[in-house]
Amino acid sequence: MNILFVASELFPYVKVGGLGDVMAALPRAIRAQGADARLLLPAYPALLSSVGIHGETAVFPDLMGGGPARILRADAPGLPLYLLDQPAFFHRPGGPYDHPQDLARRFAALCWAAAHLGRAGDSAGWQPSILHGHDWPAGLMPAYVAYGDGPRPATVLTIHNIAFQGRFPASMLEDLRLPNRSFTPEGVEFQGDINFLKAGLSLADRISTVSPTYAREIQADGGHGLESLLAKRNGTLRGILNGVDHGIWNPAKDPHLVSHYDLKHPSRRAANRPDFQARLGLHEDPDAPIFATVSRLDVLKGLDLVLENVDHLVARGAQLALLGQGDPLIETAFRQVAARYPGRVAAFIGYDEALAHKAFAACDVILVPSRQEPCGLTQLYAQGYGAIPLVRRTGGLADTVVGVSPETLENGTATGFQFGEANGWVLGEAINRALDLFHDPIAWRQVQRRGMMAEFGWEGPARAYIEMYASIPGILALPQSHPPSNFRLTIDD
Ligand code: ADP
Repeated sequence: MNILFVASELFPYVKVGGLGDVMAALPRAIRAQGADARLLLPAYPALLSSVGIHGETAVFPDLMGGGPARILRADAPGLPLYLLDQPAFFHRPGGPYDHPQDLARRFAALCWAAAHLGRAGDSAGWQPSILHGHDWPAGLMPAYVAYGDGPRPATVLTIHNIAFQGRFPASMLEDLRLPNRSFTPEGVEFQGDINFLKAGLSLADRISTVSPTYAREIQADGGHGLESLLAKRNGTLRGILNGVDHGIWNPAKDPHLVSHYDLKHPSRRAANRPDFQARLGLHEDPDAPIFATVSRLDVLKGLDLVLENVDHLVARGAQLALLGQGDPLIETAFRQVAARYPGRVAAFIGYDEALAHKAFAACDVILVPSRQEPCGLTQLYAQGYGAIPLVRRTGGLADTVVGVSPETLENGTATGFQFGEANGWVLGEAINRALDLFHDPIAWRQVQRRGMMAEFGWEGPARAYIEMYASIPGILALPQSHPPSNFRLTIDD
């Protein structure tokens, strides 16, 4: 089974959020089960300078008005890559979603390149039978396949976050090489605009998202306008949880920690604490419970609820650390509370992979109060590192944290704290429950141990994806060799 992933991020080269982590782990986990998964990405400078390049496999005189483009064959350790090299679109400083003036055209170019590989294969004779796109940047891929001619690969689209859809004016239809007949409610049209994510969700053979609870929520009231489409496609929609890459997230070997530990040596964890406190400018108080958040700063992450609880946390003797960047208003709000409580509240505004690892190894509670959370990775990392997650009961957070209650403490299944309603007072109550348990060291260690034992590897999820691919009718019947040389998409490449 040949699968080509199509995505905009890949850890450690280009990462904005969890998508980068998933792209680094999932195709490799699928390869480990014997399927040939590869990944197509834009040729960002960070990739071109770090991965092995093995020549070009396709050239285009122009793609989407961005000038000459070519597809390079490349590889990262253990993962064959294809890179869409189009200097005008991708050789620029900044993150993958910066430069709004050509955002639509450059991800359309990526999708076009994916459809080309799906239909023509590469110059070495490798051809995917499945194109698997991720999030809105890959949303037009199923459209180019569906509206193209000739034999077609199967298509899959996975939603990592439905809040980002890639909406652009209808006037771009021709620029994006979409035929007029695609501009319908069954195609790429949504409320008078072109909507990349919606296009993919309408036209892909299978769709999925990253947790069972989120799969239900997006069909009810959490679909950001796409609820009824998703409810209609319910039969093709699956919720498959993300996993943890234990090669990178393992406290027994993590190069970012000052002290390694595991279930057999839990007391060694404590040595990570003063290092983290010193780096953040927190008092090196050995007894204060440390609460932390490692997050993109976005309204959907619910961090306003944490801001409402800063006085409460400090009054109860806790420390609070924020590690994040994003919305400037949220950044400023955290800077202000940190200035108000020097040594007790700290805000690191920025992105720092090493500091994130240190946070999970040093803190007592990781707060994830998201209003919506498709899967969430930080509550998984926290558990493996012995920090207890305190989460809102939504999406993947509901599926991966067993809330502390008299019953779950009694039967030993508790792994964290949950709260329901998204308001500051309800979070405050959950914080009180966490603090009460913190002062009961035996019960605390039991919950901590259970989290460290939890199995969130990628093997199970990779199997679930392979099952999803195999459920597509005719998938194994598709040709694995070159199609006829007169192959063309609807519009000249
Ligand atoms: P999302 O994809 O919505 O951002 P996830 O929880 O799925 O949320 O993934 C977030 C990923 O980004 C995790 O790997 C987390 O550790 C990392 N992360 C978020 N903010 C930062 C930051 N400021 N510095 C380092 N890592 C961060």
